[in-house]
Amino acid sequence: MAGITAARISEVLSGVRTGLFIGGEWVAGAGTLAVEDPSTGEVLAEVADASPAQGLLALDAAVAAQKDWAATDPRVRGEILRKAFELLTQRAEDFALLMTLEMGKPLPEARGEVTYGAEFFRWFSEEAVRIAGRYATAPSGGTRLLTMKQPVGPVFAITPWNFPLAMGTRKIGPALAAGCTIVVKPAELTPLTTLALVDLLTEAGLPAGVVNVVTTSKAAALSEPIIRDPRLRKITFTGSTPVGRTLIEQSAQQVLKVSMELGGNAPFVVFEDANLDRAVDGAILAKMRNIGEACTAANRFIVHESVAQEFGARLAQRMGDMVVGRGIEDDVQVGPLINAAAVQKVSSLVADAVDHGAKVLTGGRTVGDRGYFYAPTVLTEVPRTAGMFSQEIFGPVAPITTFATDAEGIELANDTEFGLVAYAFTESLTRALTVAERLETGMVGINQGIVSNPAAPFGGVKASGIGREGGLEGIEEYLETKYVGIAL
Ligand code: NAP
Repeated sequence: MAGITAARISEVLSGVRTGLFIGGEWVAGAGTLAVEDPSTGEVLAEVADASPAQGLLALDAAVAAQKDWAATDPRVRGEILRKAFELLTQRAEDFALLMTLEMGKPLPEARGEVTYGAEFFRWFSEEAVRIAGRYATAPSGGTRLLTMKQPVGPVFAITPWNFPLAMGTRKIGPALAAGCTIVVKPAELTPLTTLALVDLLTEAGLPAGVVNVVTTSKAAALSEPIIRDPRLRKITFTGSTPVGRTLIEQSAQQVLKVSMELGGNAPFVVFEDANLDRAVDGAILAKMRNIGEACTAANRFIVHESVAQEFGARLAQRMGDMVVGRGIEDDVQVGPLINAAAVQKVSSLVADAVDHGAKVLTGGRTVGDRGYFYAPTVLTEVPRTAGMFSQEIFGPVAPITTFATDAEGIELANDTEFGLVAYAFTESLTRALTVAERLETGMVGINQGIVSNPAAPFGGVKASGIGREGGLEGIEEYLETKYVGIAL
């Protein structure tokens, strides 16, 4: 860990306030919960563990602040977000180190997430002043049709551990820009980044009660009463599809506006005319970003039979050369998985594929004797019935299968309940557009292994979710449309 000293680690950790942030005050939880470093299994910090009753106090605070925040000038809301963007950018190194410590991703990737996450504040600071409606004459004349946009009201946001900063800013940014107050519940495994973020928002000038943060070990027990409370108007969730389904059911009672960013099972399709250099570069990004722990991670490599052998060999070479280790160490490219259960899941999916005839080109094993490391792994001849083709692997494993015709490749790509993102590599414009139209996903990457961009609408179809985050669409999720008919 050449550059990062123990003193630097304790400086960053000691700067994080570890209470609950409710109504502009830091308060103690009903107990505390430990946050671990997945590289070592050591405890980094103890943070407040909110009770369900404290969750409702956070909602009380968001409800109390809603009217004033909605009435705050859009320019003022935008300036606070802009200031928060600037502060985040200034403190990028602290936030990056915090994420590397609590989540494990290598520091360069954590720095990338700060840039990406901060950009949602800048983007939505610019959107805050562009919320507009329409004015029209009814086709039959006479009546005028006035359409206005209003904030939906208090929001409950639940975020996952894999992108501790960006999954928060992607929700907080548009909510604040639209004039909504919010209660945020970060993942139990990675609460520190969100706690540091809300401190920064306060420094940027955010009034009390507009953003409230509750960390808890009792996600289900704390969340349900908030979701069933008639004062809440929207839920926004990023996480797994099974939990998303439960939350949608709970949301039905109060007919909440719902945004769900759920699981993925991304196909990565390499056609026979693909530029293999680009395809392998794209595969490394799509597979290995965030240690494979991304909803957008390529989960199934579907490669034309004429190029499969070369593609597999090149990918195995590149992945086999990647440096695995603690994210704070120089040159490390692959950090640990999030916990022992994640290693267990990845190991058993690989064992299942191998039992069914898959060949290991590289990896296929755990690494080291502490922390939760798994070697970058490439498997070929993976039978289509292998469990890893129907489930999210959420780890550094690339399974390859082959296809003969475009129709077969597209059919295979669509053969999943999920529909978040797909990647396709081809040098033909016609093929690229045809494939993009036929893929049943919310997003498609053509000749690129990453699609996330704050200026683009991120989200899925089918079991991958409802709604979009970012782009022009992102703020709409936090607005209601009101129509006023005016007789002239
Ligand atoms: P998860 O288990 O669904 O947890 C996500 C969040 O939901 C955490 O804050 C968790 O709290 C909370 N939670 C769990 N059970 C709950 C319940 N019954 N009621 C209320 N909240 C509950 O997912 P994860 O393992 O953290 O994240 C990985 C998943 O997220 C993957 O499926 C991935 O594809 C998906 N993801 C999707 C996107 C996207 O944009 N589509 C982006 C990133 C990740 P605790 O931490 O306390 O359990």
